[in-house]
Amino acid sequence: MKNTMHRSFLTLLALLLWGLPMVLAQPKAPLPKIERILPGEVQPLAPGQRNAPPLPQITLEPPIPEVRRVVYASNSYIEVASALGLVSPQNSTPSDLLGLAQQVVSRVFEARPNLEEVDITLYRANEYAGFGGPLPRFTAAVSKAHLAAFSNLSLGNLHSYDHLWINPGDSFYGPPLPPTNELEQNPKFEGSRAEVKAQRIEQKAASLQGGVIGNLLYHGNPQRPQVALTFDDAPHPLYTPLLLDTLRRAKMQATFFCIGRNAEAYPYFIRDMVRDKQEIANHTYHHVRLNNLDAQAVHEEIMQATKVLEGITGKPPRFFRPPGGRFSPTVLQVVRDLGLTLAFWTDDPADFDNVGDGVLQTRLLAQLRPGGIVLLHENVLQTIQVLPTFLRLAQLQGLRLGTTSALIHSSVQPAPHLQLSLNRRLAH
Ligand SMILES: [Zn+2]
Repeated sequence: MKNTMHRSFLTLLALLLWGLPMVLAQPKAPLPKIERILPGEVQPLAPGQRNAPPLPQITLEPPIPEVRRVVYASNSYIEVASALGLVSPQNSTPSDLLGLAQQVVSRVFEARPNLEEVDITLYRANEYAGFGGPLPRFTAAVSKAHLAAFSNLSLGNLHSYDHLWINPGDSFYGPPLPPTNELEQNPKFEGSRAEVKAQRIEQKAASLQGGVIGNLLYHGNPQRPQVALTFDDAPHPLYTPLLLDTLRRAKMQATFFCIGRNAEAYPYFIRDMVRDKQEIANHTYHHVRLNNLDAQAVHEEIMQATKVLEGITGKPPRFFRPPGGRFSPTVLQVVRDLGLTLAFWTDDPADFDNVGDGVLQTRLLAQLRPGGIVLLHENVLQTIQVLPTFLRLAQLQGLRLGTTSALIHSSVQPAPHLQLSLNRRLAH
């Protein structure tokens, strides 16, 4: 009943606002369309339609048998490598893992002296099921400057090194849920036609009014030059250090929608984000599609991610985004019960499709708008590489990019005389 009243109010509001003259130039691209999905429907092509070019690898000579692969990438400023190792269950005591990690990291630095950082992830071979599977046993991030400190570590002084995690064995992994590789596209709502229509009206109302309506954020204030920059699917042992370095150089803050399991295995990357004043948000624990789960499972997925993130940062995240953009009335209810704000997006250049730097840049600029929410993915190298140019061009358009919280903050209407001068400035 409450929902119906809420929607009726928004419908009325949308109709009223449609009648108002718009003071700003219309955005060049339409808002992402909220699509209707049916229970059990699966996206056939995921993630993206074009594969990313393979990452270059570093070969260790002579090889270390446990090392499965070492890849590296650059953000045009620094190079970072990520090593993956699989160990036998018999050789996976903390002492074994530390010794192996020290050997691998120093050998990788020797093999490629240009590297700024080497990150290492060690799994038990019998547990390894890819990046979205059960948690690793050991992870560490070693910058060139900290190589000596890392090499001198022993079990007695592990706590002196901040960028290291050993699986305590009591981590939450939960029931085996198939993690999805599907990345965020258009928001997909599993509801009746009427419910989907109501969401589209709420989205339209939000694009005219801006700010959080109920507990939904579709759009910031379209009359303020503030834009939210958001990255989904963080953290990652290759891309997080590259992206944080890029943002640091640009003196830019963004919101990272973090996957709980990955935050658990790489807590130091979350701490690095907090240190850089980046905003941490919730993207479920397993990166599963929520529209197929019952209320209890949805609650568990979101709560576990909040627990992990709050455990690392000391404060619960404020914003939540559903994997694959898939949501349902159940998801909306649980998110509301947990006091989170569901953050959608206005600009999705589909960076996961690996469309190429030029196309990505063009799409980003075509969709930019005051009050917009830019959706990008942390684990796409092209995104990191086009980011400095995109940020500069956005600033040249007079837009300020920042966190989702900054977008909400700026949605508070300025005083009428300020509003007038702002409208004039934005209109030119
Ligand atoms: Zn995602």
